[in-house]
Amino acid sequence: MAMVAQKRLDNLTRSDKARISRLRTKLLDWFTENGRGLPWRSSRASTYEKICVEVLLQRTRAETVANFYSAFYSKYPDWGALAATPVEDLEEILKPIGLWKRRAVSLNALAKYAAEHGGLFPSERKRLSKVPAVGQYVANSILLFQHGVPSPLVDVNMSRVLERYLRPRELSDIRHDPWLQDAAHWLVCCNDPARVNWATLDFAAMVCRARNPTCPECPLRLLCNFARKLHGKVAEAS
Ligand code: SF4
Repeated sequence: MAMVAQKRLDNLTRSDKARISRLRTKLLDWFTENGRGLPWRSSRASTYEKICVEVLLQRTRAETVANFYSAFYSKYPDWGALAATPVEDLEEILKPIGLWKRRAVSLNALAKYAAEHGGLFPSERKRLSKVPAVGQYVANSILLFQHGVPSPLVDVNMSRVLERYLRPRELSDIRHDPWLQDAAHWLVCCNDPARVNWATLDFAAMVCRARNPTCPECPLRLLCNFARKLHGKVAEAS
């Protein structure tokens, strides 16, 4: 198992770790059969594409980004091409996927930094946090895809799976909840953290959906706290 280089995971019990390890195994098994073959997951996708697409994916469905993907990367094949494009032009290009103003500013700032540093971002979280347009989510994608550090792409989807399976977080802001952050780091602490991230995000989109999760067919139904409680309520009512 890979080392968690930058986190001590003090907020997890031994039982939490064991349960999350089982979750990881189940998610990887499910992903082998059901995972989505999205273009940025191809072995041919560059590190630039993998980092940049995470900005496009924020609060946007993967299918929407997939439809937009090849036109975008044909036009901007590297950080240099993106950095040379005025923000207003980027806004126009990004309109079909929404949030174009925010994304254009972020991509432009990231691209300028990358173009000035030979495409290389810092590998330490503290230094990364000082790079323009790098919040927690983008920092994790840089650590994961450029530096090979097991890092979770924690968003509402990953957090929903972890919280239903184990227990709810305490803080409303996902980025600052110590337990959730540690749980997410432990989830991806393995030899193929990118695959675990993709498995979790696909599972959240297709099975453990925000509305109408398909619990009766879910491979986690006998282990999941949410499903157990639901089953208890059904049993009580009948
Ligand atoms: S049993 Fe239901 S709530 Fe639990 S992980 Fe599966 S789909 Fe999500």
